[in-house]
Amino acid sequence: MTTACSNRYQLRGQRVEYLTDMQIFNSVEAILKPLGLDTPLFPDKIENLFDLWAEQFGLTIDIVEDDEWPSCTNGHYDPSTLTIRIPTRILKLIKSKNAKQRKKGLRVLFHELGHFCLAHKAVLHDSYGNDCKEVDSEEQADLFSDYMAVCIDNLRSKQGVLF
Ligand SMILES: [Zn+2]
Repeated sequence: MTTACSNRYQLRGQRVEYLTDMQIFNSVEAILKPLGLDTPLFPDKIENLFDLWAEQFGLTIDIVEDDEWPSCTNGHYDPSTLTIRIPTRILKLIKSKNAKQRKKGLRVLFHELGHFCLAHKAVLHDSYGNDCKEVDSEEQADLFSDYMAVCIDNLRSKQGVLF
């Protein structure tokens, strides 16, 4: 696929395969159900989903104690071991009864899920090529996270259960 990068752009993350917004939206829609994120159990029983993701996708969610976590970041995805790491404080936000807090925590989790679902690995070739947000792993993961929240919101309001 040819890329359509034009303007000068400073990558925030690694250069990955070019994806349009629509391609990212489509992968969110496709993965929502397999990830179990369409169930009423979510997000109260989030640990059950972590188990499901491990069984179904070989994805590990590693919860790290806050005092062992570097303060500069909220989450991390390691493509070599298919592991998402988040600190305890983010898990607490996800399980919070407060919707605003919960969304804050989920945003971090969905961002890291985005790296996993979009199969992000660094693309090392063509380092002098034009960069743009469509090849930026961080932009793609943020967009994935935004779309995930929107899709789940829509689903919840249809089912009459707001998360
Ligand atoms: Zn990221």
